Amino acid sequence: MDKFYFLGECMVELRATEPSTMKQAFAGDVYNSAVYMKRSFPAIEAGMLTAIGKDGLSEKMLAEFKQEGLDCRFVFQHQEKSPGLYLIETDNTGERHFTYWRNDSAARKVMDFISPETTSLFTAGDSLFFSGISIAVLEESGRERLWKLLSELKTRGVKLIFDPNYRARLWSSPQQAASAFMRALELADIALPGVEDLTALFDIQTAEAAIAFCRPFNLAEVVIKNGPHSVVTSDNGQIEHHQITPVKEVVDTTSAGDAFNGVYLGARANGAPISDAVQLAARAAGTVIQHPGAIIPLEPFKSAMKSAGL
Ligand code: ADP
Repeated sequence: MDKFYFLGECMVELRATEPSTMKQAFAGDVYNSAVYMKRSFPAIEAGMLTAIGKDGLSEKMLAEFKQEGLDCRFVFQHQEKSPGLYLIETDNTGERHFTYWRNDSAARKVMDFISPETTSLFTAGDSLFFSGISIAVLEESGRERLWKLLSELKTRGVKLIFDPNYRARLWSSPQQAASAFMRALELADIALPGVEDLTALFDIQTAEAAIAFCRPFNLAEVVIKNGPHSVVTSDNGQIEHHQITPVKEVVDTTSAGDAFNGVYLGARANGAPISDAVQLAARAAGTVIQHPGAIIPLEPFKSAMKSAGL
């Protein structure tokens, strides 16, 4: 069975529940995808490629990775650094506000831990999933090493999967992000961008324009997400539109795209055709947005997936 590794940062999440009370969880785009893939397809080996610390919260995070069934062979523990942290506050109008403390996180240093031995543990047929956030959080020197690693893995037959996930505040300029995304798309085998991620940088407004934007790259599979609107896919140039059933009671859209990615890739690895994989992924994302937080409790997720035919 294929192995999937998710490169990026998992953070400590704090959510104000009442005045002076906070609920603590762990989340981060690629981590969310790994969790939802593994929950949906337990037979697939899914793991994180990241750095955490040796502090108490890092140990708790590692325990959660293991509890979710994730492979931790590439979870490195930095001697001095600790995980990034973010706080979610909801104002009187229901609008959510995010504050981040991640500039000095262990995950920024993950490339320091990657040795030729690490690279040699990947084999043809494995997949490495990374996002625009995975690139953005790395130190400058780490980014250079990332491009080298990706090229080496590609040569070894590892499938590279990329979601741009554009977060303007993580980049020093839009141009810097745009050029990194172009480089990532040149290396990737599969891309799963959201329309919104391409709007600010490339003035792309529709899923069709996103498909056209991706055409010059050598991507075998492209999946364009667009909130409650149709998902548009390109399978070696063959375009398909997939209807999504909009969710009426949206509670929190955090990690909709991440859940979609994890379940879509899991379904494809499990042999599902693209149209079935999109429907299953949309069902997962549609379930996640009816609950608060990035990682929803196991039971409602499992039962939604069961009623979707898993
Ligand atoms: P991101 O979280 O990356 O911004 P999107 O907002 O495009 O991604 O959403 C990802 C997927 O989540 C969509 O393709 C769709 O399947 C699902 N989704 C998002 N919003 C809704 C909604 N209001 N109703 C139903 N499904 C939704």
